Amino acid sequence: MTGLPSTPRYDAVVVGAGIVGLATARELCRAGRSVAVVEAEPRVAAHQTGHNSNVIHSGLYYRPGSHKARLAVAGRDETVAFCRTHGLPHRVGGKLVVATEPEELPRMAELARRGAANGVECHELDAAGAREHEPNVRALAALRVPGTGVCDFRLVAEKLAWLLAAAGGELMLGRRVLALVPRRGDVVVRTEAGDLLATRVVCCAGLHGDELARAAGGPDPGVRIVPFRGEYAGLRPPADGLVRELVYPVPDPGLPFLGVHATRGLDEHVHVGPNAVLALAREGYDWRAVRPEELAATLAYPGLWRLARRHWRVGLDEVRGSLSREAMAARVRRMLPDVRAADLEPAGAGVRAQAVRPDGTLVDDFLFHRQGPVLHVLNAPSPAATAALPIARKIAAEVTGEQEPAPETAASQ
Ligand SMILES: Cc1cc2nc3c(=O)[nH]c(=O)nc-3n(C[C@H](O)[C@H](O)[C@H](O)COP(=O)(O)OP(=O)(O)OC[C@H]3O[C@@H](n4cnc5c(N)ncnc54)[C@H](O)[C@@H]3O)c2cc1C
Repeated sequence: MTGLPSTPRYDAVVVGAGIVGLATARELCRAGRSVAVVEAEPRVAAHQTGHNSNVIHSGLYYRPGSHKARLAVAGRDETVAFCRTHGLPHRVGGKLVVATEPEELPRMAELARRGAANGVECHELDAAGAREHEPNVRALAALRVPGTGVCDFRLVAEKLAWLLAAAGGELMLGRRVLALVPRRGDVVVRTEAGDLLATRVVCCAGLHGDELARAAGGPDPGVRIVPFRGEYAGLRPPADGLVRELVYPVPDPGLPFLGVHATRGLDEHVHVGPNAVLALAREGYDWRAVRPEELAATLAYPGLWRLARRHWRVGLDEVRGSLSREAMAARVRRMLPDVRAADLEPAGAGVRAQAVRPDGTLVDDFLFHRQGPVLHVLNAPSPAATAALPIARKIAAEVTGEQEPAPETAASQ
């Protein structure tokens, strides 16, 4: 070919070194492809993967038959096995989903049905049964899910990066991808530090997923990523003794990502959160992080206003919970009545990359969008960290056209 004699060439380029991109690149390496991962930040797991609740989800919540249900259930087992094989810290202590109001009881029964349909072990408990597991909760009834656990997804991502490099994959950090240009059966990946050539490209760009889909020049992906910040508070001692493992509310089916929960992490600290407020930049980790251009583009999106019109009350409540410790404590008290505002201290935040349709509905399931040789992961919210290993196998099969490989055994990891 003329024109690009020295451009490095790969079978596949993966954009984004979060857990989904790294797991995907490693699967493609396992399938014998030459692979490079290109990441804008100087380190892996810099965004969602490194700023989340670190819960290994069981697959309880998700609509039977959805990607989320299938991939989270498989991902739970595979994440636990991966941590075990590689000596990464994790703990499977189970979680309790508590119904605190009578109107939540039918929703809890529906959750139990979903759990059963998804093959997730869960047990229905009365108030006394709930208190046997979590003595400090207030509950009318509860669901106990013994398979839920915690790990450190940043460490999982770092291990995936190490395994990728050991298998011959390349990791290019601090190099933002600017555009994807199809050319004579290949794709030119334009980056800040020069071009790469790839036969296939997989974009796992999280908060920038929709921008890259538009930068690839194909038809509009039909959704926009709206960044929703989730803020956490830590429980100071002795209030941290009020929680043994994980305590969750019954989710609102209309807004399933809402719901402040309490989690005992691997370091034994208990955090509560996350709430959900509009971030004023794609990487807007607090109220001071504002990028006027990004904010203007978010505010110009009709889908945001349709979403806001439908859920403005909930939205205001979330902002109140962000600005007032007392409001946050009041929410936690629904499940843990002894928590006081003075027990809470700020404990960081993450920003969710949530795809929103122009009609204002949230894309609930994982969303994959194909543009010829480029595959975009356009919606990979929670539980995509849990589900990353099977998501990666699914993507690799789609990219290579080969059968979805079996999960790795401990020996091959
Ligand atoms: C508050 C919160 C709590 C959560 N809790 C859980 C949980 O308990 N359990 C669970 O399973 N999931 C949870 N999740 C979801 C989970 O964190 C995500 O699903 C997962 O991390 C998505 O991984 P990713 O690789 O797709 O995205 P990311 O980790 O965001 O990675 C995307 C990467 O792409 C890079 N990038 C973007 N644009 C470009 C570009 N142009 N060029 C090069 N690189 C680029 C970014 O820098 C980033 O590193 C939570 C998420 C949040 C925000």
